Amino acid sequence: MHEIRFNPLIKQWIIVAKHRAVRPWRPEERQISFQCPFCPGAPELKHLEKWDVAVLPNRYPALTPNPPQVELEEFMWYTKREAWGVAEVIVETPSHEGDLFDLSLDHAVKVVETYKSEVERLSRLDFVEYVAVFRNKGKEIGVSLTHPHSQIYALPFIPPRVKQELDSFREYREKIGSCLLCDVAKYELKYGKRLIYYNEEFLLLIPFYAMWPYEIHIYPLKHVKSLRDFTDHQTKGLADSLRVVTAIYNKLLERDAPYIMVFHDHPARGNYEYHFHVEFYQPYRDREKLKYAAGIEWGYWVFTYDGIPEEKALELREACRKAVSSLSNAMGRCME
Ligand SMILES: [Zn+2]
Ligand SMILES: [Zn+2]
Ligand SMILES: [Zn+2]
Repeated sequence: MHEIRFNPLIKQWIIVAKHRAVRPWRPEERQISFQCPFCPGAPELKHLEKWDVAVLPNRYPALTPNPPQVELEEFMWYTKREAWGVAEVIVETPSHEGDLFDLSLDHAVKVVETYKSEVERLSRLDFVEYVAVFRNKGKEIGVSLTHPHSQIYALPFIPPRVKQELDSFREYREKIGSCLLCDVAKYELKYGKRLIYYNEEFLLLIPFYAMWPYEIHIYPLKHVKSLRDFTDHQTKGLADSLRVVTAIYNKLLERDAPYIMVFHDHPARGNYEYHFHVEFYQPYRDREKLKYAAGIEWGYWVFTYDGIPEEKALELREACRKAVSSLSNAMGRCME
């Protein structure tokens, strides 16, 4: 079974994929029988001769370019549709261990270029409404493979969170006459207390509206709607920013840190008011304690922030200084 169901109470789509239930959870890597599907020589990669970054179909796709037909329910308020879409894995490096900050700047640029060309390619498919680029890392958030990789879901609908943002950008433009995120970036530069790092193209900060204790957002300094519109210099600036954020988390926790990275991009088609950005969510609230999303967060969508973002910014800046001095050729600087 493979379909998309609509929850009429909260007006959200749910992707139902029976075959995903059988996927392995963190295979025991020390077992002799374990073969990493993303290491050179794996059957999935046999067709590639020499590679730095590889794009593979997801073995357990939630969505597919050939979805089975759905059987409709009798109750008219139960809406279903076919699970049109594409699920891919971006293998970021042939080496089995590491994180984005372990890549050279040139290699990280190749990763961002791959995201960009996949977003371009998938956006052109007629059943795709939105291309979601994201990266999950760490056993704390249930990542089953340690080999550095990110994922892309080409979705047949605009995700609700992005839809909400599109509404806010449109409303701000109508009321104020400018771009919401251009103005946020301008204010944060002036205010300064939540800034962490900047290079010529991007600003790294803990947002005023952080939901996770060490949330970091990456905002382009110049107005740009989509990754598809990036210049080469912006691509390089984003590669630099991704290395810095991931290095900050590792210095902050003094170990291999878990995190979630999501790209918030313009939808595949149409012309909306928007400003591309990247959000990072970090599940720890200090070095040892995890922040769980539970009753109030899941059941009501109400977040409590443990601490004050402006104070966490100081910790993140300190981690930033350690991170930048450990990276070869970082393009920008940490806030003092
Ligand atoms: Zn591997
Ligand atoms: Zn803007
Ligand atoms: Zn966003």
